[in-house]
Amino acid sequence: MEITWRENLAWCACLIDGEGHIRTDPRDAGATLLPRIDITQADRRVLDRFRRIIGMGRIYGPYHYANRVGHKPRFQYYLAGYQQVQAAIAMIWTWLDVVKRQQAGAAMIRTRDAARLAPGRGRDKTICKRGHSLTDPSNVHIYIQHGYQSRDCRACGAERMRISRRLRHETMLRDNADLDIAWA
Ligand SMILES: [Zn+2]
Repeated sequence: MEITWRENLAWCACLIDGEGHIRTDPRDAGATLLPRIDITQADRRVLDRFRRIIGMGRIYGPYHYANRVGHKPRFQYYLAGYQQVQAAIAMIWTWLDVVKRQQAGAAMIRTRDAARLAPGRGRDKTICKRGHSLTDPSNVHIYIQHGYQSRDCRACGAERMRISRRLRHETMLRDNADLDIAWA
């Protein structure tokens, strides 16, 4: 019996429900905020099938996790871009569960709001979404991600570092306090 395209799309929706994410790329703070669909799998054939049905996206990997003993290498399916993600979601919307429908809606709205705050596509932008300069070379961090050149706002990066350092420090203080109690 032949599998219809509709049945294949339903399968894609189930795969995203269980194994996928629809979100905006949080690391891409300085440049374009893009909605993305990503799915991680140990078996690449699952992702190949997904990509064939949807007709878009790329597969990366295998990624090896040296610190996790016994873990298989992982492959990642990745689709980014407002139009591309919108098209993929429209294809599978009928079968998508409520959680992923909400994720999809939120990702599209966040992208649109970010584009409104800092208009222009990617490298044309002159300010990041928090208003720092993206024309001042000392504030722009250039890096390569998924084979593409990308930009990041150094001021936002420093802010993220400060926050994570403070969180680490607070966790350390709390853990030490716990130790003091344990030793008291
Ligand atoms: Zn910034």
